[in-house]
Amino acid sequence: MTPTVYLDHAATTPLDPRVRDTMREIGDAAYANPSSLHRPGRMAREALDHARYQVAQFLNAKEEEIVFTSSGTEANNWVLRGVAEQWPGQGQCHIITSSIEHPAILETCHFLAQHGVEITYLPVDSQGLVTTHSLCQALRPETRLVSIMSANNVIGTLQPIDELSRIAHAHGVMFHTDAVQSAGKVPIDLQRQETINFLSISAHKLYGPKGCGALFIRTGTFLPPFIHGGGQENGRRSSTENIEGIVGFGAAAEIAESEGKDETVRLVQLREQLLNDLRQRIPGIYLIGHPYLRLPGHLCVGLEGKETEAIKLMLALDEGGIAVSSGSACSAQHSAKPPYILQAMGFDPIKARGALRITLGRFNTDEEIRHFVDTLELVERQLHQWTTTIGLGNN
Ligand code: PLP
Repeated sequence: MTPTVYLDHAATTPLDPRVRDTMREIGDAAYANPSSLHRPGRMAREALDHARYQVAQFLNAKEEEIVFTSSGTEANNWVLRGVAEQWPGQGQCHIITSSIEHPAILETCHFLAQHGVEITYLPVDSQGLVTTHSLCQALRPETRLVSIMSANNVIGTLQPIDELSRIAHAHGVMFHTDAVQSAGKVPIDLQRQETINFLSISAHKLYGPKGCGALFIRTGTFLPPFIHGGGQENGRRSSTENIEGIVGFGAAAEIAESEGKDETVRLVQLREQLLNDLRQRIPGIYLIGHPYLRLPGHLCVGLEGKETEAIKLMLALDEGGIAVSSGSACSAQHSAKPPYILQAMGFDPIKARGALRITLGRFNTDEEIRHFVDTLELVERQLHQWTTTIGLGNN
């Protein structure tokens, strides 16, 4: 079998071999419980402390501001639910978010809304941007939190987080950003970005292991614990720490910090080359999302008139050994749901089903990208012939 060309890095990234080596080496040695006082326990504690240092350095935050979680989803749930918990009672808590957040935010908001929390979902423009004007209009005296993602997982658009967080701060409102997609691709400097109170990240999006995330909680910002128990993570997040995962997260963060800039430059070049090639070779292809305020390796495209065929295209590519994602079915569980992100951008429901998400990563080569374009051209042509032969229209 030919190896798969993996172009779905927004879904998850492969483990960097250097991260895997560190996890094996340190994970084998630091097997003990870091809360134990004996020597193996102290070794595990050291490994944990070092990983926290690496993640803190990566975000330019303080070590005590980093709390390890099981995922980006947990970090997001924690912030929203932790803030709502502090203002119980109907109408006491208003949270502002955007209409294109990841389900880890949106589903939590839906849950909170059933418990008396008022939620405003900010609209986005046709390129997927939240405007500062809409945030200013939505703020109320009882607004407690604004939560806007740094970058969208489906369309790749980057939000003006600095401006939005400054507005929230000026109104005395806490600001959270889901940086799961942007971390490692767009610089984060939490010393400088001092109006961000909370920030969520996840190891598996930056070539680290799955099942490991972190929440940044700025010094002076209170958030009640989400998971109660043995008092780990300074009493903020109980349960015996996932040392191996956390060590891998630390290693992945250190690599991202030292190589992130060069990687971004390379991925932007590769992405732009790919977009040019696609425009020349695939008739009717169009870009979805912002032309340049987007994640470095992220392309989301539609095929004019063939929007309903996106899943077929994706499956045909899969047959040809290429892994991309259909924007309307980024998760297999949700393939039947209308693609809310594109609809929020003003696409009609049919057109909104037609996105292909191609996300490039650290190990992709120019050759792989050329192979992808050749294969897409071929499967697109075959699909076109097939639909014309059996007389299916494009609608
Ligand atoms: N937020 C965004 C923007 C994501 O893209 C994802 C994962 O796809 C998550 C949150 C969830 O992260 P995790 O898989 O670590 O729970």
